[in-house]
Amino acid sequence: MRPNPNRGRVYRRCGYRDSHGRQLGTRCPRLSNTRHGSGAYAVDMPSLNGKRKTRRRSGYATKTEASTALAKTLECERAGVHLDDTETVAQYLTGWLQERSRTLKPTPSSATATTPPRT
Ligand SMILES: [Zn+2]
Repeated sequence: MRPNPNRGRVYRRCGYRDSHGRQLGTRCPRLSNTRHGSGAYAVDMPSLNGKRKTRRRSGYATKTEASTALAKTLECERAGVHLDDTETVAQYLTGWLQERSRTLKPTPSSATATTPPRT
């Protein structure tokens, strides 16, 4: 089944902690005030080992910003760029280019060298 490109959800959460030191997150009673808390998104992402995991990001000023970031994440997925929690797109591409330069012969003349490796 193909992943739904319009999936994911955007919400507001609060970074304040309760008396147990746990973040209030979406439980904060003050979230009805739109200037309280921050925008966040969560979306299930397929990972390289085949297990789905939920990607969560928060700290956006507004829900609109969070949904923009969510859209970019899904765009990367459609483009075939794998993102995980420790890699940005830039880091991914840099790593891929370094990997290519190691595996390419010094004088690449074949057109097949321009396609990314399939994993
Ligand atoms: Zn709060």
